[in-house]
Amino acid sequence: MYSNSDQTTLPSVLVIAGFDPSGGAGLLADTKTIHANGGYACSVMSAITVQNTQGVQAVEAVESKLFGAQLKALAEDIQFDAIKIGMLASLEQVQVLSEFLAQNAKIPVVLDPVLVSSSGRKLLPDNALTSFIEDLMPKATLLTPNLPEVKTLLEQTKPSNHVNPEKLDISVDRLKWLKATNILIKGGHSTEDKAKDILFSELQTRPHSQTFCAPRLKVTHNHGTGCTLASAIATHLAYGKTLPLAIQHAKEYLHHTLQTADLNQPNYQSLPAGKTRHGSLNHFAN
Ligand code: PLP
Repeated sequence: MYSNSDQTTLPSVLVIAGFDPSGGAGLLADTKTIHANGGYACSVMSAITVQNTQGVQAVEAVESKLFGAQLKALAEDIQFDAIKIGMLASLEQVQVLSEFLAQNAKIPVVLDPVLVSSSGRKLLPDNALTSFIEDLMPKATLLTPNLPEVKTLLEQTKPSNHVNPEKLDISVDRLKWLKATNILIKGGHSTEDKAKDILFSELQTRPHSQTFCAPRLKVTHNHGTGCTLASAIATHLAYGKTLPLAIQHAKEYLHHTLQTADLNQPNYQSLPAGKTRHGSLNHFAN
């Protein structure tokens, strides 16, 4: 048996997400982020996507038994300090994961509700949305939706629950419908000058909010921003930081990865007419 008395253990983060072979989003972005923030990443694949920096061409969900077997094998082997959930690709996966979280209730969970890719491809199937909201969201320590995701989730819980997807100031009474404990609403799609996110804490019991601001950067290569922020938060939670501090550190990290993204890209093929390209962030900026 291997044993090393000088061993220091790294905070371990279990990532559950899709595979984006271009490396910008999903498991590859999550793994880079976790290691860049000093953690150790393990990953469970929910789907193989066919995509490049121009968009998603196809999605193939991993069969739920195989999905569950990946979770079981890792949990039998490693004590995780945090879990980060990104893209899920079937109702069955949502249910398997919900059972897994119920058995591992003490580990902080960051749930990024990846519903649609920024290139417009639906990633979570419609028939999984209700179970996602009712079974998964209440088990998360933190939900990290952007404004269009909050709109979809709220309208699913109550059709008259309309929100303006450009405005961050959503009432606590509305957000309570989501049955989540803490929600970080990301203001990337808002009309504000600053990159402003709002953390709504202890929503169901003692609601209060805190705002996080960063300068808004004009960047072409911003694919996987949501994955990166959620994974960085999970890593800082794995280190035992409080939720506000984990968010603050993750936002600072994200700012650095965005600031230098356009200067750190691969040598691309020429872009077909009418196409746009959004590459990866610079995960090892520091
Ligand atoms: N996770 C995976 C596996 C994806 O393929 C995508 C988008 O294609 C995302 C997450 C979301 O990334 P983004 O919001 O940058 O499109």
